[in-house]
Formats: sequence, C-alpha cells, structure tokens
Amino acid sequence: MKLKNAFILMAFVALCFACATNPFTGKKTMALVPNSQLFPTAFAQYDQFLTENKVVTGTKDAEMITRVGQRIAVAAERWLNANGYEGYLEDYKWEYNLVDDKTVNAWCMPGGKIVFYTGILPIAKNEAGVAAIMGHEVAHALANHGQQRMSAAYIQAGVALAGNVAIKDEQDRNAFNQYYGVGSQVGAMLPFSRAHETEADKIGIYLMAIAGYNPDEASLLWERMKANSGGSSTPEILSTHPSNDSRIANLKALAPKAKEEAAKFGVTTFRE
Ligand SMILES: [Zn+2]
Repeated sequence: MKLKNAFILMAFVALCFACATNPFTGKKTMALVPNSQLFPTAFAQYDQFLTENKVVTGTKDAEMITRVGQRIAVAAERWLNANGYEGYLEDYKWEYNLVDDKTVNAWCMPGGKIVFYTGILPIAKNEAGVAAIMGHEVAHALANHGQQRMSAAYIQAGVALAGNVAIKDEQDRNAFNQYYGVGSQVGAMLPFSRAHETEADKIGIYLMAIAGYNPDEASLLWERMKANSGGSSTPEILSTHPSNDSRIANLKALAPKAKEEAAKFGVTTFRE
C-alpha cells in the first residue's frame, strides 16, 4: 500500500514537471517528451524524407515558400518576444521545402520542419493563401500539438514515466513514426483534435497578419479547400484538417482581430 502511494506521488511529480505553459493560451500542457529529445528525431526524419523525395529548388514557387516561411517565423518570434517568451524558439530550426508531388498537402514537423507539396499550390492560389497554410502549420509546431498528442499516446499505452522518456528504443521509435509519420505515412497520420485545430487557426491567422499577409484570405482558402473536397480528388490535407462551415466562419470572425494584433507591431497594410 505504502509502495503504491509512493508510485502515485512519483507519477504526480513527474506529470507536474512535464507540464509546459502554452504561450498562446496560457494553459498548462503535457510535454512528457522534452523538445531537446523530440526535435533531433524529427530533424533526422525530415532529412530522410527530403532525400527520398523530389525537392524543388530555384523556381519562383520554391522561393515563395521560403519567403513566406521566413516571414511567418519572424512574426512568431516577434509575437513571442513581445509577450515575454524570449528564448521559446531556442530548440527550433526552421526549414521550408517545396516537394514536387501532386498530393494536396502541407505539414510541419516538431521543431519547425515544413514541407509544401506542389499539389497544394493551385488551392493556395496566391501568396496570402500560402501564408494562411504556413501560419496554421507553424502554429501546430509552436503550440507543440504533436508533442501533446504523443504524450497522450504514451499515457494511453501505459508507458512507465520514471525519470524521463528518451526516444531511443524500438517502442519509442514506433510511437514517433505513428504520430509523426512522414512519406507514405503522412496521409495516415491521426488528425489533430478539434481543439488543436481551432487553436492553430487562431494562432495561424495572427501570425500571417503580423507577417503582413491579408488575414481575410484564411477563410477564403478553406472555402477553396472545401470546394475541392468530395470524390476522388479530396485533398490529402483534409484528412487531417476537415474544412467545414464553422471553421470558415471562425476564421472570418478572427480576421479583424488579427489585423488589430498586427497593428500592435506596426503592420497596417497587407499583401495578397
Ligand atoms: Zn491543423
């Protein structure tokens, strides 16, 4: 009995230490796998993905992806610094790549490793549309949604949490692959929860506005996504990011607020 209580206490202490504050919501979130262990694994997976796929370089589109990514990352840093979160991005290593693939998808791995497929560009339509997708994907990475999803999986799997969890053995690698699958597994990735989607929409639209992109484009983008769903041409991104009327209405309502937020950073004109 005494031993059992001690275990419960230990587990409680471990969980408390494993909590991190989400700077965007102020809420405590689970972070059982620290960034310092999670990110290097993600970076290695990302590099492997790039070697196995056709990365587009030197084209106007490739340059646009890099330009938008850099502007969104700068916006994120400005926002975090202004809100007392200097150093939050310490372990992040931003990278933006365009991959030649007609799949309609884009994703961001933990630590800021982003891929856009050429197939999503017609739906993105313009640079502001790319910024809306970029802002949303970067927001998942900033809020560590993937990490929380993985932490929840660890708890579900009943993985012992004595000390810390290092991604070093087979079981951990399997869990990682399942929750951050790349390549052929991207489409099989579990969708984020609706709460995470709403959070990423909000953070994302603020970031795109601070980066100087018209936040009115966000709701228009998801309307285009919705119009492209159905039949055999359903965009891959919709399997993890369902586009529905409430999401579109939410983004429409957020656009003026995003402009107000951008004004705090001296941004009052927006490019399309
Ligand atoms: Zn999302």
